[in-house]
Amino acid sequence: MFYEKFLRNKKLIKIVLEKIKNLKLKRKVNLMEVCGTHTYTFFRFGLRKIIPSYINLISGPGCPVCITEEDFIDKAVILSQDKKNIIATFGDLMRVKGSFSSLEEEKTKGAYIEVVYSPLEALALAKKTEKRVIFLGIGFETTAPLIASLIKETKQKRIKNLFLLCNHRLIPPAMGALCKDKDINIDGFICPGHVSAIIGEIPYEAIVKKYKKGCIISGFEPLDMVLSIYRLLVQIKKNTPKLENEYKRVVKRKGNLEAKKLLKEVFKVTDASWRGLGTIKKSGLELNQNYQDFNAQKLIKKKIDFKKKNNILCLCADVIKGKTSPFKCPQFKKICNPNNPLGPCMISFEGSCRICYEYGS
Ligand code: SF4
Repeated sequence: MFYEKFLRNKKLIKIVLEKIKNLKLKRKVNLMEVCGTHTYTFFRFGLRKIIPSYINLISGPGCPVCITEEDFIDKAVILSQDKKNIIATFGDLMRVKGSFSSLEEEKTKGAYIEVVYSPLEALALAKKTEKRVIFLGIGFETTAPLIASLIKETKQKRIKNLFLLCNHRLIPPAMGALCKDKDINIDGFICPGHVSAIIGEIPYEAIVKKYKKGCIISGFEPLDMVLSIYRLLVQIKKNTPKLENEYKRVVKRKGNLEAKKLLKEVFKVTDASWRGLGTIKKSGLELNQNYQDFNAQKLIKKKIDFKKKNNILCLCADVIKGKTSPFKCPQFKKICNPNNPLGPCMISFEGSCRICYEYGS
């Protein structure tokens, strides 16, 4: 409690803001907060309004629902149409549209879809039923160890009716892809604290070395955020990009060794497709050879004729990349809102459009 109060201490935040102002950088700088929870903190606490206007904060691809491609939803929908299956999913995915339907639509037609709050609920469901329970695994390095643990336990307990449709993604390769994109000129990254708690500091060093972009691992409190901005600006002013860990109270240099071991045991790294970013090498996880019996992909017997829908109204792909902001989308707060979302960035609580809608004014 004391710590939380300290991290929200207005006096300390003011001191850091003063230091930021005194840096007097003479050009516009683009700083990307990779994670949706960081975007939330910036808006929720009004930090965007009190930092100097030359600092352009760009929201990145760190919302798992937002980066999920339509073809993953298509596969989930097809599995939900089989009466032998129960789909277990986090609630945010329900409304995301695939190329021909959504899980919400399928539920209204009678599909058995359970919204769960933890992967363990999927396991409990599997123990109670004869049907096949298919868990939709989305998320980054933070959630993937939980899913790895779920699948490992499923195997150990010889449970035969729990399967994983896997869409886990890895953050550092996506940051690398953003650095290569000439349309997005990022000067430095505010790196996600909870992902870093698992992977540690080391994976970001390659980004600093290869792309000469500063990286600050940041916590989620307002003081963490302004300190991270300050430290990035100092690097930019001195032209000394490096990795700094502002969140040392949680993130250790080598990360969480147990979690990393678990990930290695259950998954293998693979090329993967991201909404907005396309296919990125070695940016996804899929079940490895030892766990293929739990791969829900194998339960899909019909060939999917996936036709990517060109939703010209929705700019989510560009929002995810940081090429545009929700405020620049002509549909924002007009026809697109949380009750009528045109894209996943308005559905998820970690999506930029949703955060701007809730806290942007
Ligand atoms: Fe898509 Fe709506 Fe966001 Fe515009 S405001 S990018 S339509 S989700």
